[in-house]
Amino acid sequence: MDPLIAPLGRIVGAKYVIARPSELIVYENDGLPGYHKRPRLLVSPANRDEAIAVVRALAAAGAAFVARGAGTGLSGGSLADGIVMVGLQRMRRIIAIDELARTATVEPGVVNANLTRAAAPFGLHYAPDPSSQTACTIGGNVAENAGGPHCLKYGVTLNHVVAATIVLPEGEVMRLEAPRDDEVGIDLLGTFVGSEGCFGIAVDVTVKLTPNPARIYTMLADFMTVDGAAEAVSTIIAAGIVPAALELIDAGTIAAVEASIYAAGYPTDVAAALIIEVDGPLAGLDDDVDAVDRICRAAGARTVRVANDPADRARLWQGRKKAFGAMGRVAPNLCVQDAVVPRTKLAPVLRAIAAIGARHRLHVCNVFHAGDGNLHPNIPYNADDADESERVHLACDEIMALCIAEGGTLTGEHGVGLDKLKYMDQLFTPDSLDAMCRLRDAFDPARRANPGKVVPVHRCREWLAAPGVNA
Ligand SMILES: Cc1cc2nc3c(=O)[nH]c(=O)nc-3n(C[C@H](O)[C@H](O)[C@H](O)COP(=O)(O)OP(=O)(O)OC[C@H]3O[C@@H](n4cnc5c(N)ncnc54)[C@H](O)[C@@H]3O)c2cc1C
Repeated sequence: MDPLIAPLGRIVGAKYVIARPSELIVYENDGLPGYHKRPRLLVSPANRDEAIAVVRALAAAGAAFVARGAGTGLSGGSLADGIVMVGLQRMRRIIAIDELARTATVEPGVVNANLTRAAAPFGLHYAPDPSSQTACTIGGNVAENAGGPHCLKYGVTLNHVVAATIVLPEGEVMRLEAPRDDEVGIDLLGTFVGSEGCFGIAVDVTVKLTPNPARIYTMLADFMTVDGAAEAVSTIIAAGIVPAALELIDAGTIAAVEASIYAAGYPTDVAAALIIEVDGPLAGLDDDVDAVDRICRAAGARTVRVANDPADRARLWQGRKKAFGAMGRVAPNLCVQDAVVPRTKLAPVLRAIAAIGARHRLHVCNVFHAGDGNLHPNIPYNADDADESERVHLACDEIMALCIAEGGTLTGEHGVGLDKLKYMDQLFTPDSLDAMCRLRDAFDPARRANPGKVVPVHRCREWLAAPGVNA
């Protein structure tokens, strides 16, 4: 019997401590196939006080832990390798919506889309909209600094978090607030956002709510070449237009979407399509739509159309946002990659990625936040096929090296987690990695929060002795 079961059970109630291997199986993965790590046990607090008490009990026992939201992460970040998993999905209360201040304070387990639903009666919404928004949690979004299609215009999670209460791994409780214009000091909240669960657990979060735009135009432009679509992306931004969203979907992804229940009416005989959304006050908006239409046609678009009505718009977005799910029809597993390149290099990088796929006899499909240069090369494969899995790993290594060589970076929004650890040395100098280790130590001196993630262990040699790190 694990000695933690009884003390944790006294805090959260016995039924919210799960230790049976058969029940823990569902917590072995996140959204990325390929990694399986069995937690020591799962403890699920119901509220802030229980969460703090759990972290303090774990500190007293010297036990390492990993926070878990919905487990939709795509970098292996919320996997617990023989250590305690702190599940936050029971903490799903929207504590307050302040219509005047346009903020909401929520527990970390609130599902992203539920916040927008709750804000709707006030004419407001929560702008960061990861494609997983119907499942992922605000706590997970904060930890990953999540993005989404509409983050091109409205900014990523960091730009929307105004305060958070966090419990540090040793049990201290800190209130972090976003610096105001006149404030001095180190931005600890900004440091916490994107820290991937390594600095403690957010037990409540206050976020900005954004007024709904007066008018939205959602456009679909289809292209016979990927180069043409990529050229249109750069030209739209260069023209000074900042669309609310600018997404690229290639032929392989369109084929999967159109064969699925998420079929959106995308043309299946094209090389790529762009979903372009412009929104805002009415003044000048029609001019932007005309300019986008012109630019797309000049770049070779065959057709450019505007969604007829809200149902049509919703269908266009559903196809985009459910594209990863639709890929499930193509193969049993999907390797979702995440990297960023300068927007102007989209066309050559996409050509090089296709060549890498062909060399490894893999079909790389792309659906991504083109306006940000945030690529998602996705590779359908069968994880039971060792040879194919190996080829996927090799292709990913080459894709990451390519993006870094082109002046990009190795994650735009999914985080480093476990999956990108091996590339960190390619991007950062030893001094930068050492600084990351020291910063992490400031929040977590005993190195018990999400050990073995984000910074390669060989860079933090002393971490080899940390609980839960299997170097
Ligand atoms: C189909 C699909 C589409 C996706 N689309 C996008 C997209 O468009 N944009 C995007 O950014 N991501 C996307 N993702 C990735 C994923 O949904 C995001 O990274 C999301 O933010 C993870 O939230 P989660 O609640 O599932 O967190 P988890 O996966 O449970 O955890 C992720 C990380 O957050 C930490 N964590 C969780 N809660 C807390 C907390 N309260 N305090 C401290 N740390 C915590 C965990 O320890 C872990 O390191 C997608 C995933 C899928 C499956």
